[in-house]
Amino acid sequence: MSDFTRYMTTAIHAGNTHDAHGSPFTPLYDTTTFCFEDTKALLDVVEGRKQGALYTRYGMNPTVTSLEQRLAQLDQAEAALAFASGMAAISSLCLAFGQKGIVCLGEIYGGTIELLSLYCKQLNINTTFLKADDKAGLENSLQQGASLVLFETPANPTLAVIDIKQVAELAHQYDALVAVDNTFATPINQQPLSLGADFCMQSATKYLGGHSDLTAGVLSGSRHNMTIINGWRKSLGQTISAEIAHKLKRSLMTLPLRVERHNQNALIIAQFLEQHPAVETVYYPGLVSHAGHAIANQQMQGYGGMLSFDVRGGDKAARQCVDSLKLIALAPSLGGAESLATQPVTTSHHGMSEDILRDAGISGAMIRLSVGLETATDLINDFEQAFIAIR
Ligand SMILES: *Cc1c(COP(=O)(O)O)cnc(C)c1O
Repeated sequence: MSDFTRYMTTAIHAGNTHDAHGSPFTPLYDTTTFCFEDTKALLDVVEGRKQGALYTRYGMNPTVTSLEQRLAQLDQAEAALAFASGMAAISSLCLAFGQKGIVCLGEIYGGTIELLSLYCKQLNINTTFLKADDKAGLENSLQQGASLVLFETPANPTLAVIDIKQVAELAHQYDALVAVDNTFATPINQQPLSLGADFCMQSATKYLGGHSDLTAGVLSGSRHNMTIINGWRKSLGQTISAEIAHKLKRSLMTLPLRVERHNQNALIIAQFLEQHPAVETVYYPGLVSHAGHAIANQQMQGYGGMLSFDVRGGDKAARQCVDSLKLIALAPSLGGAESLATQPVTTSHHGMSEDILRDAGISGAMIRLSVGLETATDLINDFEQAFIAIR
């Protein structure tokens, strides 16, 4: 579908600085503070006349800066900021730019819903949750002065796709800013900023980290907006640690390779599931049968490694299926080398009312799959034996 190799040089080289000892990459500075020749040199950095290392919580640490330059180039952004988690990135964004009101479109990550409906509310920030296609509702919120429109595409767990360009054009007519949670797609499959979004957000805990062994977040956008966000990040103390920054930067070197294989594996599994008699529906943007397929073709370079499917036989059959999988582990989260499966009703959507679930298109029969990097036939064989176990 696309030339994934075009990101590989950036993923490996961007952000690296000259090292006095000849390290091919910027080394890990697990340092909290940095020393100066004299007060003048110190003030040059403190007062912004010179770029330099100063204090790690400010993000002014060579390892963190090096990571952020690589992330910015991957997102084709003027600037990027790395955070201690995806939620740290989202909360800084919402506090910095959502004060006049935040509108969410479509399915939103559970942590984001909690932040907005519980905590932003306590700060008197107006938050509205709309269906993805509720254009009138969106215009109404924008007319009332909402300052930030936030959505995910593809969204969890139905992989619903939202037209980024269309939402950005409408929001910009009202001077609102648009943020896309690009966690599922990654910059390899989708470039929200080039489609008109003002902010690209990702939980780096997922595909960017890629090995289920680090927690981090990223926000990218214009230099002006990132400077404002950086003030919040610094004051809230949400900066990524140097150790995790270093680990994440290493993971980025293989991101294009991994995402290309996630894409390939997911399409193979989606096609296998779609023709299997034990499966009722498959939700994957790469399938012609998926409602978001046409928009995905317009705005994505690849369809990603996430898919969901409904098993025939309802909640009981779905539970039997995930409990019978041997290679594929039962766990929330996503984006690692290993395949993971869950029923959304037991994890991301646990305890939600029947009405909310029906509106979101989620039932007990649904299984969400983060397709890993294993040999595709091994994953298929695992499903074959699990489907036999249901019967
Ligand atoms: C995991 C996730 C988040 C939150 O990221 P953390 O790193 O867990 O804080 C936000 N959005 C999406 C779509 C996610 O999958």
